Amino acid sequence: MARRTNTLLTDTHWQVLEYANEYYACHRVGPLYRNIERHTGVLRNTLERIFPNGLQSVYGWVGIPIQASNEVPCKPVANIKVDEYRKVYLDHNSTTYLRAEVRDTLQNFLDDAESFANPSSSSTAAQKIHRLLDKAHVSIAHCLGVDPNEIVFTGGGSEAINLAIKGVAFRHLSSPGHIVTSVTEHSAVLETIRYLASFGFTTSYVTVGSEGMVTADAIKEALRPDTQLVSIMAANNEIGVINPIQEIGAVCRAAGVPLMVDAVQAFGKIPLRPKEWGISLLAISGHKLYGPKGIGALYVATNQSLVPLVHGGEQEGGRRAGTENIMGIIGLGMAAKLAHRELAQESARLLRLRERLLARLQEIEPALIVNGSLTHRLANNLNVGLPGIDSGSLLLSLDQIGISVSAGSACHAGGAETSHVIRALGVDTKRYGIVRFGLGLQTTESDLDYLFRYLPAILTDLRNSRH
Ligand code: PLP
Repeated sequence: MARRTNTLLTDTHWQVLEYANEYYACHRVGPLYRNIERHTGVLRNTLERIFPNGLQSVYGWVGIPIQASNEVPCKPVANIKVDEYRKVYLDHNSTTYLRAEVRDTLQNFLDDAESFANPSSSSTAAQKIHRLLDKAHVSIAHCLGVDPNEIVFTGGGSEAINLAIKGVAFRHLSSPGHIVTSVTEHSAVLETIRYLASFGFTTSYVTVGSEGMVTADAIKEALRPDTQLVSIMAANNEIGVINPIQEIGAVCRAAGVPLMVDAVQAFGKIPLRPKEWGISLLAISGHKLYGPKGIGALYVATNQSLVPLVHGGEQEGGRRAGTENIMGIIGLGMAAKLAHRELAQESARLLRLRERLLARLQEIEPALIVNGSLTHRLANNLNVGLPGIDSGSLLLSLDQIGISVSAGSACHAGGAETSHVIRALGVDTKRYGIVRFGLGLQTTESDLDYLFRYLPAILTDLRNSRH
């Protein structure tokens, strides 16, 4: 249980550690000072004296995964008893499970004794696998209205983004120029571009207004004669805000600058037409649309040349070497096809559900704020600020009763950090706890009923236990 330590452990230490261990086994979160006091008689000041970092040491030694730093610890967790525990997953912008149709397809594939064949070989079995790969290219291409040869499968969304940005930049290594992006991009974009600074590339970061959108005018203003790439996301992962990609594409096309679009959140949720919209590169990922993890794809317009990141064989038209992740590719192809087929109906259903979610939240928290535009937004996303609530505490309290959501600021080992997206909106994060709800295929009204059966008591409990 306890980790190696230089502290000499007394009976009091063991009493606290054993209680914390039992409590964690039962509640899946660590006990609070007041629980420990009540059950072991060890007072807070005693605990803080005998453990080097108080409660954090207790959690650390027991192995309780509460993430807290010395300066800004996550606040307490509400003590709520549920009558009928259930799992409610409301974090679909973070990741999604494999949907049944994809799982069944992959299972059938695995059941075929020859499915291990290498698609680059010339055997009959290999040709069959090759046809499945072709089919997956066609599936993705069909969703985007592009040519199947313009799709390159990658090892996930981040790799697709890296391939796009570095692939274009590395063509200009002899005369590194200027890149335009926005302050609210995913770290896969921001960090890739930051890395390129070491090669001499310079970057302009376009800001967003309180609605969280990048405007085409802002892009136009940021362009310079030496701009070599613009990279703007289609929809934001935290606030779900949809950027006017069509207008941004028109600006880029007129300027003759390639536009790379991170569509990891948007693909399968809103229509995307790279060819009509002036997009040269567009990245997607399997695990955001009920496909497998570690698989993604990049649309590369035929006229867009790219330096590959992975050199080797001729797979994926020479743009990404290596024997293909066939399971991932088949899974992504299937997931994309289904998402595309259901897009209109599912987003209308999710929109109704989100409206209900917001209305019910506003009933219990009239002073809440919605982060980012409500009109230009993915139907499945709601990101709110709750006054006077610590989002880390709320997250853990909800997790304790089986509900998964995300926070806009995360208490973790390095400290309590506020998301760069929320900061870019100008939200007062000292005043508001940020929570992201991500609805999905299996979310129903009864999930929301479960949430709202306990949320008011959790919020009251958290406000009362502030110290
Ligand atoms: N871009 C956005 C907008 C994302 O939300 C994510 C994943 O969270 C990524 C890129 C990275 O995708 P992957 O996890 O497939 O590498």
